[in-house]
Amino acid sequence: MVLAAVAAALTLGAAGDAAQEASDTLAREIFRQLIEINTTDSVGNVTTAAEAMAARLRAAGFGADDLQLLGDNERKKNLVVRLHGSGKHRPVLLLGHLDVVEARREDWSTDPFQFVEKDGYFYGRGTQDMKENDAIMVATLLRLKREGYRPDRDIILALTADEEGGCCNGVNWLLQHQRALIDAALVINADDRGVISEHGVAQAFRLLASEKVYADYQLMVTNRGGHSSEPRPDNAIYQLAQALLKVQQYQFPFELNNVTRQYYARTLGSAAPERAADIRGILRQPPDPEAVRRLSASDRDNAIMRTNCVATRLEGGHANNALPQRAQANVNCRILPGHSPEEVRQRLIEVIADPQVSVRYVADDGTVAERAPDRRGFAPAPVPDELLKPLDQVVAGLWPGVPVVPFMSAGATDNIYTSAAGMPSFVVSGIAVDNDDVRMHGRDERVRVRDFYTANHFFYRFLKGLTAQ
Ligand SMILES: [Zn+2]
Repeated sequence: MVLAAVAAALTLGAAGDAAQEASDTLAREIFRQLIEINTTDSVGNVTTAAEAMAARLRAAGFGADDLQLLGDNERKKNLVVRLHGSGKHRPVLLLGHLDVVEARREDWSTDPFQFVEKDGYFYGRGTQDMKENDAIMVATLLRLKREGYRPDRDIILALTADEEGGCCNGVNWLLQHQRALIDAALVINADDRGVISEHGVAQAFRLLASEKVYADYQLMVTNRGGHSSEPRPDNAIYQLAQALLKVQQYQFPFELNNVTRQYYARTLGSAAPERAADIRGILRQPPDPEAVRRLSASDRDNAIMRTNCVATRLEGGHANNALPQRAQANVNCRILPGHSPEEVRQRLIEVIADPQVSVRYVADDGTVAERAPDRRGFAPAPVPDELLKPLDQVVAGLWPGVPVVPFMSAGATDNIYTSAAGMPSFVVSGIAVDNDDVRMHGRDERVRVRDFYTANHFFYRFLKGLTAQ
């Protein structure tokens, strides 16, 4: 059944070509519309974008019961739409955020809120993050509806507010107020460039299956201060500097989990011989310490293999001619799943080993607390076959020879909310972006025209493969 359904999805006859072309045209039009609706937190309006998508879905026959616009306030409404399936499996939830990061006209070569096609690229704020995938998901749902497709489970699409910041994260809000609307056995978030490419050539298809936990800590030293003409050995700035050097020199232990093991195992085939030998070394039980040391020299590998903490801000003193009464720094940590922010705080205290240096937790809203949360990111399960199988097949059809690589991200998406709510959550996107052309949150954000259409083909085939099992 799986093979037959995927094979059917992959076989595009003449009728399939025409349907694909129509879907591409529609996806481009939706993409243009979304880019030209400003959805920044400052002056934009997410509700306007959600309503525009709702109007298209309504016109295609989605009924009032299956289409909801709701949220914390008038500017931050989320759209939730449901395509009914046979109910053989529990629903799949597709996630996309509608909001975008601020963009100033004077920083850009084009108007960031105009959809511009030039030199083979679409330009505009949100072309990489993530209105391209919002448009593709809406176009795919419209196409499935038109085709009368009956999936083996309900397909829910939620287009949401405030992923990039702001008062009212839409996924969090929906989970707290309308959980039943988006409750699902599997979450597919499209908030990524899935196809890692170099000079337009795909290298790997990245499947985000786990995320590190973000935490900030405030290190502070206070001192009675005094006149700088009579310095003393105790000095808040020196004391803090010594603490920071200890943080710099400390390395958290090497640790792999189900997802990072899958990642290394699946990249083995395409790795250069030396790297392949080191990968075999770290996958061994017990791991080869020399291989761990060599791979740790790569920033990218080091970020995957351990919790990392780094100093990111520093301030201290109050006058050029006074001994400092206070010095403080921010240390930012990215914590492996399975460990809690409080566990890391305790470790920092041990490493610094100076009771006069306070180590406190800084929450997302900036408030400082004596203790950090005990909540641990879920140690991830291996990626399930029901997801990996259709993905392997569709990727092989569109990008022959490119491996699907389960990956743990050092950043964070809205999946932190859905996985904390107990729903297995992944990030899947057919969008290709060259390694040297990552412009999300930056200026002149763009996506290659060809890659946008390929991603549209990908998503249709993938969603059918996933829901025809
Ligand atoms: Zn995003």
